[in-house]
Amino acid sequence: PEEIRVYEFAEMINKQPSEIISKLFMLGMLTTKNDFLDKDAIEILADEFGIEVETVNAQEEFDYVKAYDDDDEGELQERAPVITIMGHVDHGKTSLLDYIRSSRVVHGESGGITQHVGAYMVHKNNKNITFIDTPGHEAFTQMRARGAEVTDIVIIVVAADDGVKPQTKEAIEHAKAADVPIIIAINKMDKEAANPDMVKTQLSDLGIMPTEWGGSHEFVGVSAHTGQGIEELLEIILLQAEILELEANPTRDAKAVVIESSLEKGRGPVATIVVQNGTLRVGDTVVAGVAYGKVRALLDHAGKAITSIKPGEPGVIVGLSEVAEAGEKLVKVESDKAAREYAQKRHDYLRQKELSRSTKVTLDELSQRI
Ligand code: GDP
Ligand code: MG
Repeated sequence: PEEIRVYEFAEMINKQPSEIISKLFMLGMLTTKNDFLDKDAIEILADEFGIEVETVNAQEEFDYVKAYDDDDEGELQERAPVITIMGHVDHGKTSLLDYIRSSRVVHGESGGITQHVGAYMVHKNNKNITFIDTPGHEAFTQMRARGAEVTDIVIIVVAADDGVKPQTKEAIEHAKAADVPIIIAINKMDKEAANPDMVKTQLSDLGIMPTEWGGSHEFVGVSAHTGQGIEELLEIILLQAEILELEANPTRDAKAVVIESSLEKGRGPVATIVVQNGTLRVGDTVVAGVAYGKVRALLDHAGKAITSIKPGEPGVIVGLSEVAEAGEKLVKVESDKAAREYAQKRHDYLRQKELSRSTKVTLDELSQRI
């Protein structure tokens, strides 16, 4: 959340990105709507538009993450890609996630977890693919706003009988802003009225052109009802992942992102996480924002107890002191004492922010709300 883009800032203050861009241009700064604004630029703009902005040091918020950050070279290994599905309402995001989950995830081994698990992993050609099972722009933007760029590839679902709609365009904007590759799944191919060429033409007009037309985006026709095209979609994901050369170091301490979190009866707070780097193990002491604790148990997406979670992979963590917010970063720390201190700091920080809320819009808050 240290940074905010031109169009995001424009949205927050109810202006057009073009107004921001031309203001900056007159001040001698050349920007596009996807560029990040630095602290100085924001203060100048705030002045120009007569709004009050307080820049806060977002750093202290993520002290425990900062302490983690320098990466060991030489020990990197391939990791599973993390996928988010976005698209217009009713175009089939949930159906597609459900189809992939039920056709590819082994069931009947449930450890009795009753809550929805916000991410799952499937196997294909001896590789793993992680799907974040909380579709929609909110989850994606909320996580990005917290600086948790967990998604490697975005799949945009467009119904073949309905074509490009406002939320399709929004999804494209979000994926572009996050700078992640887009794969287009043209869904509902089983329908009589399916018109994939219409979808291809509409998207090409938006700069998303299929490879078969000389563009650089993979399009695949699918049906969440019949399963048509879904194996192909998984293969395209693996190809795209290969191009991205996704790597992490499984020998280090874990760093993860909270996808969702809730209170589970008999278990206390549980959180679905995706590990970004390192390996998370039972017994690790972790902190995730104001939540902290010793990992009492780890569960896979079916609720089965596991002992560790590798980079790119999802799971459920039991043992946190409280429910953690989606998008919060979770990091292993050296001791219970450190965990408690970080959590307390985070708590104080949020309280401080709450106190200043009534009079001022903080930069941090601006970015948290996009
Ligand atoms: P979401 O809002 O994007 O999550 O869309 P849903 O998954 O809830 O689907 C919206 C509606 O479209 C539901 O009635 C689904 O049954 C239907 N639907 C989704 N995928 C397909 C498909 O591939 N073929 C057909 N015929 N209907 C679909
Ligand atoms: Mg849905």
